[in-house]
Amino acid sequence: MNFHVLTLFPDMIVQGLHTSVTGRALDKGIIHLNAVNIRDYSKDKHKHVDDYPYGGGAGMVMQPEPISLAYEDLTKNMGKKPRVIYVTPQGTTFCQSMAEEFAKEEDLVFLCGHYEGVDERILEEIVTDYVSIGDYVLTGGELPAMVMMDAVSRLVPGVLNNEDSAQFESFHDNLLEHPHYTRPVEFHGKRVPEVLLSGHHGNIERWRRNESLKRTLERRPDLLEDALLTEEDRRYLETLGYSLPRREE
Ligand code: SAM
Repeated sequence: MNFHVLTLFPDMIVQGLHTSVTGRALDKGIIHLNAVNIRDYSKDKHKHVDDYPYGGGAGMVMQPEPISLAYEDLTKNMGKKPRVIYVTPQGTTFCQSMAEEFAKEEDLVFLCGHYEGVDERILEEIVTDYVSIGDYVLTGGELPAMVMMDAVSRLVPGVLNNEDSAQFESFHDNLLEHPHYTRPVEFHGKRVPEVLLSGHHGNIERWRRNESLKRTLERRPDLLEDALLTEEDRRYLETLGYSLPRREE
């Protein structure tokens, strides 16, 4: 997986990603990072990359030309036009299934806005996906791009030590993950649930599945509507007072 980031703050991206799991994946060459400083493509003698908005109003707007030049330079040796994600609060909200989709790409380009945003014309020209990390406004697109690269990286084979750990997590099957416990067996008067100490794999699996269902019902009931549920799952949810509409086969 090759991540390319068009940004005014490449150091932020490089430092952020060169940490922990993504840092190790970069060191091992499993993922690659190319943080491109848009400012390097400014033809202005003061290296300006923004200007006042036509029509007036507050703030500055990122100019199209430096972004266009940076994009041309970046893509000139790529075989095909890459997916270009403009991170923006105006986009579709990022989610696990989107991360899974992005993880299939060989190259992903992230465009990080700043100030009031980016001149619309360059967005129309190069952007394939408008993606938000939530309904709030940040100062720049670097953190959202890092959030997305982190979520995508951990789906790239070899990035996580244990391949399974990315498969049975929250949002897998549209359910939240069960709770976790580690040593000691007793902490502040609370014991680890006995079933986890039993060594009975079948019971442990069922307990985890039920906890996952219960937690999803309590915290994100909206997910259950699209969850892949067995008859046993449905029966368990019914014991919690929740019944799902049955789907037409
Ligand atoms: N004026 C813009 C608007 O109202 O939509 C917001 C601009 S914001 C201050 C500057 C940049 O931060 C955006 O261009 C975008 O790249 C990034 N950004 C801010 N919030 C974001 C979010 N929730 N998700 C993704 N990117 C975001």
